[in-house]
Amino acid sequence: MFSSYVHESIIGRAIKEQHIQFNVWDLRAYASDKHKTTDDVPYSGGAGMLMKPEPIYKAVVDVLEGDVATTQKGVSHSPDSQVILLSAAGKQFTQKKAHELLQYKQLVFICGRYEGVDHRVSKYIADQEISIGKYILTGGELPAMVITDAITRLIPGVLKNPESLAQESFHPHRVQKKEYPQYTRPATFSPKKGVEWTVPPILYSGNHKKIKDWKEGVVRK
Ligand code: SAM
Repeated sequence: MFSSYVHESIIGRAIKEQHIQFNVWDLRAYASDKHKTTDDVPYSGGAGMLMKPEPIYKAVVDVLEGDVATTQKGVSHSPDSQVILLSAAGKQFTQKKAHELLQYKQLVFICGRYEGVDHRVSKYIADQEISIGKYILTGGELPAMVITDAITRLIPGVLKNPESLAQESFHPHRVQKKEYPQYTRPATFSPKKGVEWTVPPILYSGNHKKIKDWKEGVVRK
């Protein structure tokens, strides 16, 4: 699932240019029985299966190269890393969160499947639970890629035109809070005879002051 996306486009280039590393760990490799079981039925009944805590714990310890302390309170590790459980009920992922996560050297995403994950993973292993939106996906893989994509493009050197970042919607230091409409050529697009979809002429007038006023006016409306 991951390789088709992360080896393409901006993430692919960021990996090639060594801005990031992206590795995938198969939880089944950390299952202890011969069937490589990573899920089980919920206590007290209920629909579906839940992901077991042991394979996830072992995998996370392995990803963190064993540099963890495990106590009754849970797992602690280097402040350079952050262990994230993907969960529909978690805190909503935002552009602000992307900037916040950019501060860590290593992000470990735990991707749930089935009906979800044994609660001890959230309570003792993960540092935070993140949702990419109020809808249910089949697994945490797409959310992990969404978050990776949003963060990777913020890494200095990844985008070839970094000035565009400060102009983007939701940028924390952006002065204008709402995007103004943008256009490219042709100035008049005619999808069929008698129909003309045009660009506001002010945008190709060359009058920078008027263009600035237009953009601000559009945003204020
Ligand atoms: N029973 C869970 C619930 O009602 O919230 C849904 C489980 S979902 C089918 C399986 C896994 O997909 C979750 O454990 C989580 O890792 C991931 N997932 C699904 N939707 C998500 C979302 N909106 N954001 C982040 N992760 C999500």
